[in-house]
Amino acid sequence: MAEHIETDTVVVGLGAMGAQALWQLARSGVDAVGVEQYSPGHSRGSSHGESRIIRTAYLEGAEYVPFVHAAWRAWADLEEASGSCLVLRTGALVLGAPGSAAVAGTLTAAGHHGLAHSRLSGQELAERFPQHAVRPGEEGVFEEEGGVVLPEAAITTALRLARAAGAEVLTGTRVTRIEPDPDRPRVLAGDTEIRARRVVVTAGAWLPQLLPDAMAPVRMRVERRVLGWFRTTQDPSPHAGGPVFARDEPDGTTWYGFPSLDGRTVKIGIHAEAPGSGDRPGAQWGEPVDPDAGPRKPDGADARRLAELAAGLRGVEELPERMAPCMYTMTPDEHFVIGLRRDLPGLVLAGGFSGHGYKFASAVGEALSDLARHGRTDLPIGMFDPHRWD
Ligand SMILES: Cc1cc2nc3c(=O)[nH]c(=O)nc-3n(C[C@H](O)[C@H](O)[C@H](O)COP(=O)(O)OP(=O)(O)OC[C@H]3O[C@@H](n4cnc5c(N)ncnc54)[C@H](O)[C@@H]3O)c2cc1C
Repeated sequence: MAEHIETDTVVVGLGAMGAQALWQLARSGVDAVGVEQYSPGHSRGSSHGESRIIRTAYLEGAEYVPFVHAAWRAWADLEEASGSCLVLRTGALVLGAPGSAAVAGTLTAAGHHGLAHSRLSGQELAERFPQHAVRPGEEGVFEEEGGVVLPEAAITTALRLARAAGAEVLTGTRVTRIEPDPDRPRVLAGDTEIRARRVVVTAGAWLPQLLPDAMAPVRMRVERRVLGWFRTTQDPSPHAGGPVFARDEPDGTTWYGFPSLDGRTVKIGIHAEAPGSGDRPGAQWGEPVDPDAGPRKPDGADARRLAELAAGLRGVEELPERMAPCMYTMTPDEHFVIGLRRDLPGLVLAGGFSGHGYKFASAVGEALSDLARHGRTDLPIGMFDPHRWD
């Protein structure tokens, strides 16, 4: 081995989760090394594309709400420590039929946790949010506690603070092997060997191939998704302000979008196609991706599919002016994997964020730092137990 490093904790993968974990470790005084195969804020994983939605009345499950609260607090910490604005408070809107997963799930979470929200009829929606072409029978739920997290900036900012607090950051360095051990697990990256007390593994779409045996029962699936940017056509544009949104179509497709952040385009994406819709597979069965090859480049079919949904917006061009592919790492129940596994002594895992993890990255970083330092955390991560499929 050309180089040998001894440290307390290694973080493998410095994307959304790993960057926050490294900062939390370093600010706690832990001797830490972070390893990233590309350059921080790159566009080959799951954390690029300028914006991520944060919502509090969590339609994916009311049980997430305490963790969203923790994430808001931790984002505010990062903003304060860095002096950077990383979260834009725009409010969040969901639209759909009264019983749709988006509307019903949001109302359940808001009701269960007593969260401030307003339920809007179709007419109220159309009056208050003219950027949406509201369909007959559609209603909405609006909450102030929603907004946009800036994904690339949050990663580079956390890594800047981590370095300033003493962490070492190795970029352009690919980890080829992780050897679990209760005392001194080992990480191999090219001709560098790193031995540490703990290894935090936050490799995103590469997690299943980095720890194939332990991850086999989880049956994670890496899937392709495509983002599209549509030019706005009106001046002033109804998309100039307003909330982030998630919208359920009558066939079960769930898509989402953002207000215009650059003053000229609106970004939208498809979270889940309608289950069982032929060449538009359901959320669990989107187009599989080998993360090393990367997702297939967006094509005309992607543009047309995004355009079908963008027809639900007013004041945007028919076709996207640009598109970008991205990867979701899905678990069978679409909940995350965060914690320790008995067959991986010395390792702490976070992965399988199933297309809705970014908003939590700040709190995930805290939880990973707690787990690496103390073997436990008070943060509410019980539902993300990595053993739940064994
Ligand atoms: C199109 C799209 C839209 C989304 N929208 C939202 C949203 O609105 N709100 C929300 O909350 N979430 C959203 N998500 C989900 C969210 O972005 C992801 O859950 C989150 O980014 C996953 O973070 P991660 O750290 O697991 O992966 P990543 O950020 O991809 O980080 C993994 C890192 O590990 C590195 N790595 C992997 N293997 C190795 C190795 N062997 N050696 C060294 N480095 C390695 C990779 O290069 C990468 O940098 C969206 C995702 C996509 C794709």
